[in-house]
Amino acid sequence: MAEPQLDATHDPAARCWVAGADGHPNFPVQNLPLGVFEPLGASPPEPRGGVAIGDQVLDLPGVAHLLHGAAREAAEIAVAPCLNPLVALGHGVMRELRRQLFELLTDPAHKPAVAPSLHPANACALHLPFAIGDYTDFYAGIHHAENIGRQFRPDNPLLPNYKYVPIGYHGRASSIRLSGVEVIRPCGQTKPPDAAAPSFGPSRKLDYELEMGLWIGHGNALGTPIPITDADAHLAGLSLLNDWSARDIQAWEYQPLGPFLAKNFHTSVSPWVVTMEALAPFRVAQPPRPAGDPTPLPYLSDAAEQTAGAFDVTMEVLLLTPAMRAAGQPPHRLSRGSMAAMYWTAAQLVAHHASNGCNLMPGDLLGTGTISGATADSLGSLMEITGNGSRPLTLPSGETRGFLEDGDELILTGWAERAGFARIGFGECRARIAPAVSLSA
Ligand code: CA
Repeated sequence: MAEPQLDATHDPAARCWVAGADGHPNFPVQNLPLGVFEPLGASPPEPRGGVAIGDQVLDLPGVAHLLHGAAREAAEIAVAPCLNPLVALGHGVMRELRRQLFELLTDPAHKPAVAPSLHPANACALHLPFAIGDYTDFYAGIHHAENIGRQFRPDNPLLPNYKYVPIGYHGRASSIRLSGVEVIRPCGQTKPPDAAAPSFGPSRKLDYELEMGLWIGHGNALGTPIPITDADAHLAGLSLLNDWSARDIQAWEYQPLGPFLAKNFHTSVSPWVVTMEALAPFRVAQPPRPAGDPTPLPYLSDAAEQTAGAFDVTMEVLLLTPAMRAAGQPPHRLSRGSMAAMYWTAAQLVAHHASNGCNLMPGDLLGTGTISGATADSLGSLMEITGNGSRPLTLPSGETRGFLEDGDELILTGWAERAGFARIGFGECRARIAPAVSLSA
């Protein structure tokens, strides 16, 4: 893979003339994440590409006339209600767009021309950043895989394929929603171990999964695998992803074909796509494989890729119950961990996905799988934190939770920081649980 490119757009000393952008915890000028927005009340509604800067959204097509060359064409393409055609242009164009936007936002001479294209974020509606054709969910968080496997197979938590194959399955794109859209508790078949037969009703083991979403930029033709050395170039950027999971439905349905209705009722993503360009300073070496683990097969092996294949992104999960909300209490942190706790890199997931000739398309979404750390305070699901509900956790409010209850709100956050660089963040991926909708009228 190409060495992550650092340039003037990563300069921590750069100053932006947009009020509140410098030192913004998520969106300083060194970030410039992409999304789809429309100003509230606009008639007719015209969702289009935008860039988060501080607490404002910059209208990309609105500033196209201030850009030149490939960056101008890219900003003009962002008039589409999704970012698919924009990211399909590839990293060369994305880098040039970033460079010119950075210039517009840091040189005060551009303020009079740019300011009319800035909208307060709280006066904008945000939309899914992509028209998502396909969604794949992997299982690359090895601590999660071990924790879950141990609940089923205490002596042999990982199946023999895990350290050879980046395990994944095809998810459902139609039920992916933006952060903020409530999650309706799913109904389904469940069968407690002591029951003779299953019954149908609301899930009683509704859980979240802390994941990172990988957005595909330019794709590959059917039948044409993506070499591991080129895999990074097919990634446009990252968003937070919550793979909502009904553990009781999952336990009864998942064998022999894997997840189905336990997973496809809803998936949440954060609205802003933090680009690979913005993440360049936060690339770190993939953690070494434990001694005795197999070397990845050649199509997944690239020594250069391994030196900067992981992302040093801190990820947090917070819970806010209705009682806490009513009492004015802040959300309670359930876990904090690093995205680097993955057995496979993002590039390896991409290369594996396309290794049989499967074609990835611009705007396809790949979930990393639940990212849990090695410690008890960095577990990425309630299934792990509470031992499948057997050890309910006690919240500061005095309430207990084995799994999520109606009205609970789950919040994922993420950010990257490193000495010598400006901190950048992902914003939030949050959603509240709504009661199940019964089939009977
Ligand atoms: Ca998952």
